[in-house]
Amino acid sequence: MIQNVFGQFSTRTLLAGTFALFSLPFTLVILFPAQLDKMMDIGSYVAFHNTAEFFSIMVALCVFSVGWFTYDQSKDRHALFLGTAFLAVGLIDFMHTLSNAAMPAFITPNSTNKSTQFWISARLLDASAFLVSAFIYHNSQSRFLSKKPLMTISIALTGATFIGFTFFQSYMPVTAIHGVGLTPLKRYAEYLVIVLLIAAFAFYWRRMQKTGDRTITNYLAAFIICIFSEAAFASYTTGFDTYNVVGHIYKIIAFYLIYNALFVAAVKNPYIKLKEYTTKLEQSNQDLLDFSFVASHDLQEPLRKIRTFADRLKSTEKERISDRGVDFLEKMGNSASRMQDLISDLRRYSGSQIGLEPMVSIDLKECALEAIADLKELCERMEGTVEVGELPHIEANRVQMRELFQNLICNALKYCSREKPLVKVYSGARCPDGSLEIHVQDNGIGFDECYLDRIFKPFQRLHGRSSPYEGTGIGLAICRKIVERHNGSITATSEPGKGSTFIVRLPQVQMGKQVQPGGWS
Ligand code: ADP
Repeated sequence: MIQNVFGQFSTRTLLAGTFALFSLPFTLVILFPAQLDKMMDIGSYVAFHNTAEFFSIMVALCVFSVGWFTYDQSKDRHALFLGTAFLAVGLIDFMHTLSNAAMPAFITPNSTNKSTQFWISARLLDASAFLVSAFIYHNSQSRFLSKKPLMTISIALTGATFIGFTFFQSYMPVTAIHGVGLTPLKRYAEYLVIVLLIAAFAFYWRRMQKTGDRTITNYLAAFIICIFSEAAFASYTTGFDTYNVVGHIYKIIAFYLIYNALFVAAVKNPYIKLKEYTTKLEQSNQDLLDFSFVASHDLQEPLRKIRTFADRLKSTEKERISDRGVDFLEKMGNSASRMQDLISDLRRYSGSQIGLEPMVSIDLKECALEAIADLKELCERMEGTVEVGELPHIEANRVQMRELFQNLICNALKYCSREKPLVKVYSGARCPDGSLEIHVQDNGIGFDECYLDRIFKPFQRLHGRSSPYEGTGIGLAICRKIVERHNGSITATSEPGKGSTFIVRLPQVQMGKQVQPGGWS
């Protein structure tokens, strides 16, 4: 909503507005010092300072979290760099807060000098990080811009700052003198921070012109606010005056804007892109399916004609065609028939993908029995027996579950050895994750398990055209597709000559009827 409102303004207007808005409090304090340049009492100031600093530390750690934890997916090196820099900034700001002269000793005695030393280190660090980050793009190549080196540098800087200002105070540059105030060094350091921020602003501006990326406005606005904040810290006379308070508030706002920009770059934008890709992918998938459906339908007609005319030629011109010619015509007819089978399987395969109707509660046993009824003729021809054990009720697509059983039981009957086919359909043990298994077991010819991957791919067969087992190699591919549409998986165990067991694993779904593994009705 806020973004939409601001989205209507140009970047220049937004930045000019930011400048005007954030310069106003300063102008007022300068114009009306008597009324506005107040001093806080030490108690109120400590309460304010701790609250403000904890806020900005929290935001800094959020910046770190976004940059660091999204990196594995987003691979956004700019966000990773700023994120790890902000980890150090947040931690040093934490030390700054604990070192406040009005707080209990932070390991060694506190003083305004110690507190401002941590402060100015954090500011130099964040301003330098801003400046350097202007040259780092999300896809920058340098090997230093990866998690390990950046985290090492961040921890090393934080550790060195902590040890230096906590244990080696006397060797460190003095930034504040008790009873006197800030030293010139502290002021020059703040000016240096301002120069770094101005440079960062200029380079980010150039980057925005180059890339057209409007989220950079967040950074630019943050730098303007940071510059005002630094100006306040370069000008305060005591640690408790209005400038100091305004500076702290500005810092929180600036950090929030950085967080917002990183969040948009590392989380929101990739998410929006992913949604767009998914929609496009779904559309092109659908187009492809429609195409294969229509193409396979339209190919049937010319094939039918080839077969019909080959047959006609054979019967009407029999006398005039040599035996070899008749043989050729037969081969032609057979090939056309096989191609017709392949095409209709292709239709079946693409058709099995179109629109999965809503899942309903179904009795799997009923589905299996319906599939067996459809295979009655094959079963009788093969003199096979199919036994169905207890199967659960699940939430699934009825038509597709029936097709799944049909394909598996059909294969179990078809790939029989010398023995009469005996097929068992039963529910397997419940898996530790709650998913259920359905087994379709046969006593057929089996296969070598090294071909397991192959058999679930479309048109992959382990039996050539010369084998007695007819087929096109589409049945198991359809089974896999059906199972995957139900968020499950399919595999098999088998041994040549000893039979196979196909195992369908379905995720934990609503089950109306609990079934004991292997139970038979
Ligand atoms: P098709 O049966 O039309 O060849 P499928 O996709 O159903 O196609 O099966 C792929 C291949 O897997 C088959 O060609 C066969 O070699 C092997 N196969 C499938 N089911 C069994 C089974 N129950 N026993 C042995 N082999 C099987």
